[in-house]
Amino acid sequence: MAVPKKKVSPSRRGMRRSHEALTAEAYADCPNCGELKRPHHVCHSCGHYDGREVVQASDKQKIAVRV
Ligand SMILES: [Zn+2]
Repeated sequence: MAVPKKKVSPSRRGMRRSHEALTAEAYADCPNCGELKRPHHVCHSCGHYDGREVVQASDKQKIAVRV
């Protein structure tokens, strides 16, 4: 098994983790129903995209939008 040659200092560990921050998920209001949806994606609530219904809206397709 490979073993690290030196212990990583708290400073160096922090410098490495400075790039690991999570960014907030982008969201936008659906122009049709006002539900939060991801930009450039079909609305999970009403099935609309670009002003028209592209998929049948049903309870099965409802997926919670994480913000
Ligand atoms: Zn919608």
